[in-house]
Amino acid sequence: MTAIDDLPPLREVIRRHALSPRKSLGQNFLLDLNLTARIARAGGPLAGVTVIEIGPGPGGLTRALLAANAARVIAVERDARAVAALAEIAARYPDRLRVIAGDALEFDARTHLGDVAPGPVRVIANLPYNIATALLVRWLSVEPWPPWYDQLVLMFQREVAERIVARPGTKSFGRLSVLAGWRTEAKILFDVSATAFVPPPKVTSSVVRLVPRAAPLACDRGVLEDVTEAAFGQRRKMLRQSLRTLGRDPRPLLAAAGIAETARAEDIPVEGFVMLARQLAAARDAS
Ligand code: SAM
Repeated sequence: MTAIDDLPPLREVIRRHALSPRKSLGQNFLLDLNLTARIARAGGPLAGVTVIEIGPGPGGLTRALLAANAARVIAVERDARAVAALAEIAARYPDRLRVIAGDALEFDARTHLGDVAPGPVRVIANLPYNIATALLVRWLSVEPWPPWYDQLVLMFQREVAERIVARPGTKSFGRLSVLAGWRTEAKILFDVSATAFVPPPKVTSSVVRLVPRAAPLACDRGVLEDVTEAAFGQRRKMLRQSLRTLGRDPRPLLAAAGIAETARAEDIPVEGFVMLARQLAAARDAS
């Protein structure tokens, strides 16, 4: 692929800023311009879109997003060496790249959107794997719903991607699948070989797109999480047993939700968990 911009090659950026990858920061960089362009394209047309990028590192994906016409990129990076490297990109794209130096787990995008022009907000990122699930759970737990973003396009380890999109009756189906399936439509778009990264991680990665549902089945998120925590905490046990950790007899709840007492967590579809959460909320209110 020919250069997408007139900035220095990423390898030179890494060398000049002594950006040798650190495992503790989940640093596996993408230097292949075809791949960063493909991830940017997976986010759909970006004209008029504000992109939130977590962990831009040396800026390969950031540059692809800007070259793909994102109106602006707000990028959160914890590594001061990378923050310095990103200043060059910010200078090349005046007013379109804002770099926030800090921890993505403490970052609330909404506090940075007040002064940006109206338009869709999208999260597109090659996430640090050590905090990827925690970040996703935060984005899926946003209140009120629908959230401030219109899509999440995120790179995960393949095994985590499979848990996000898993269907009932499969071994990957768990708490994350229920939360993601309840609030979004999630899809694995493509896999990325470990050899595409510097340094290569031990596992294959996948890019996942999650599109928020406008109106998920109504239930209280906290109560739904209580139910899935109890059910999947002992996933091989029958629900009449595993749900005892909720502190009340689960049998009337299961009966009212139309679920067999002998069923196991991994066999219950999202709608079943929602029904259970509604019954539990009602029982709590009544006691
Ligand atoms: N986006 C770059 C790419 O694709 O080449 C780098 C991706 S690398 C997998 C993850 C990036 O997240 C690193 O740049 C790392 O420094 C950054 N990072 C790690 N933990 C972070 C945190 N808590 N908050 C913000 N950034 C973090």
